[in-house]
Amino acid sequence: MRSLAEEARRAGRRLALVPTMGALHEGHLALVREARSRADHVTVSIFVNPTQFGPGEDYERYPRTLEADLEALRRVGGVDAVFAPTVEGLYPYGEAANATWVTVEGLTDGLCGRYRPGHFRGVTTVVARLFNVCRPHIACFGLKDAQQFFVLRRMARELLTGVELIGVPTVREADGLALSSRNAYLSPEERAQAPVLWKALQAAEAAIQRGELRPAAIVERMLQMLATAPLARPQYVELVDTETLQPVDRLEPGREVLAALAIYFGQTRLIDNVIVRIPSPTDR
Ligand code: AMP
Repeated sequence: MRSLAEEARRAGRRLALVPTMGALHEGHLALVREARSRADHVTVSIFVNPTQFGPGEDYERYPRTLEADLEALRRVGGVDAVFAPTVEGLYPYGEAANATWVTVEGLTDGLCGRYRPGHFRGVTTVVARLFNVCRPHIACFGLKDAQQFFVLRRMARELLTGVELIGVPTVREADGLALSSRNAYLSPEERAQAPVLWKALQAAEAAIQRGELRPAAIVERMLQMLATAPLARPQYVELVDTETLQPVDRLEPGREVLAALAIYFGQTRLIDNVIVRIPSPTDR
């Protein structure tokens, strides 16, 4: 993979990387299209990264559908390389004996980081390795995983990787549910109620547009909406500043806020978010 990338670089091409864990859907394909529009050599990596799963999480049963993924990428077209390494390929001493980690402090403390200890360390470590092997100029990530995007952008800048991160808007089903490989775990009843994540986020956005500046009132509004779905069990529902990912006491007109939530349906954990610019009174 590295010699292929080096060769493309020597030929003066601009390289894009789209990291994925496979089980590809339209959300992933949106990243591929974005990459294609910004670069002239596109690599898609497919790797279910063991170090970002915690004990009791779904590493073993995570869907692995390589043949279908390759077919989806052939159909969408414009993909120059698919990099699907083995665990030993990315963890030469094995994942259990891995000694070298990349960690981003602060930004990983809250939101998903609070409930998935070690998750972002696994993500930053594997993405740093993918950058080292695939040698991209740009890398595309989904804003569906907003905290992951902000954490990785900070890592890419602070490690002086020279890789520019592009955040791609979330692709949704017609009823608002964000596409996710984990949606396949939902029962029909859970699937029917799952659009409540998007409804809660839209309620938050509407409240902010109406001029609500108290985070607690907006969170309360989201919890009310979530309570209309009896199978939904909130893990967190938060409003944080997009720079620091820290909770804010009061929304400040002109700044951006991230409304984010993680909701369990049975054993399945779904996340979603929206980024809202807080209007000044004169905007309304
Ligand atoms: P995953 O395979 O779940 O690790 O996701 C790989 C990449 O696809 C990540 O950058 C995700 O943020 C992105 N992604 C996943 N779902 C969506 C979606 N519905 N819309 C846009 N990007 C997505």
